[in-house]
Amino acid sequence: MPQLRQNIVTGDWVVIAPERAKRPQDFIIPKSVKVADKRKCPFCIGSEGYKANEKEHTAASEHIYVIENQYPAFIDDDKHASVRSFYPEEGFYRARASVGDHEVVVIKNHETDLMHLEVPIMTELLEMIRARYIFMKEHEKVVSIMPIYNHGAEAGASMDHPHAQIFASGIVANTVEREMHGADKYFGINGNCVFCDLIAHEKHEKVRIVEENADFLAATFYAARFPFETWIYPKKHQSQFEIISNSEMKGLAENLYATLHKIDETLDNPPLNLYIHTLPTISEDSASYHWHLEITPRVSSFGGYEIASDVVIDVMSPEEAADYLRESTRGANYGRRQN
Ligand code: AMP
Ligand code: ZN
Ligand code: ZN
Repeated sequence: MPQLRQNIVTGDWVVIAPERAKRPQDFIIPKSVKVADKRKCPFCIGSEGYKANEKEHTAASEHIYVIENQYPAFIDDDKHASVRSFYPEEGFYRARASVGDHEVVVIKNHETDLMHLEVPIMTELLEMIRARYIFMKEHEKVVSIMPIYNHGAEAGASMDHPHAQIFASGIVANTVEREMHGADKYFGINGNCVFCDLIAHEKHEKVRIVEENADFLAATFYAARFPFETWIYPKKHQSQFEIISNSEMKGLAENLYATLHKIDETLDNPPLNLYIHTLPTISEDSASYHWHLEITPRVSSFGGYEIASDVVIDVMSPEEAADYLRESTRGANYGRRQN
């Protein structure tokens, strides 16, 4: 029986409507074949494509370098752009310049991909994202920053070469705005962080946990919008991603590695998006908001009802999804291999 579920943070509703006997393989969709010629790849250092379009690295480490996005969504233009709104078409509409920053965090090795990043490189990637986050935070026009990773063409990746992106903008994303609003409201009523309560609840119920280590918990989301949607939370209350310590970062990389491998094994390398929701950079540390990482496998598509209503029908129950993910062994094997 389908169930309406409310997102405890935002108040948004979703419908969980498991289709009878639907199994993980039913969600596996044929991959679009994208053969990127390494010689032409603009992200492969030294290739024809790279030389034709060479950009200064804004940062680099052993396995990673960072460049400005060639087609930025947010532009670092201190001289010309004002952050103020303007009102075009005789004052009818409201608009603002899209100021900020937009960088591409490139993993040097063309041959690897998100599902196969070993823990040390995953850690290096997350550390680089944190370093660029802290750098962008100083930009006076930046209000919030969102790191994302698109994996697979069906999840919006336009380049085969593995890379993350960091969007720094003068606005707070609608999703984060709604989460903060819901978290504030919950805090006002209950006196607790809604995410801290959610973590305690998930640890008690145990039905949606996918992966847990000392500092992080990965669980499918109760009001999931996508089959196998999984959120990873720092177990200790923390509102800002960028204050994570080095030892916590390693814990995050390990948890993410294991979670991604469970998803990979269950859904055979599905297209997915991964992104971090964290406190806007203009806000002070918050007792009500709690940063987290969301993983959204893109194995379903939205129809008219979802687009029209913003009420998503998810055909996989999050509890069943967690069962499947826990049953997969590849993520779990990682820890055993290391010991
Ligand atoms: P995605 O669409 O997730 O694969 O991200 C690739 C990003 O790289 C896009 O935002 C592009 O705008 C950007 N991009 C494409 N070619 C280049 C290039 N030669 N240098 C820098 N950024 C690029
Ligand atoms: Zn490449
Ligand atoms: Zn919390």
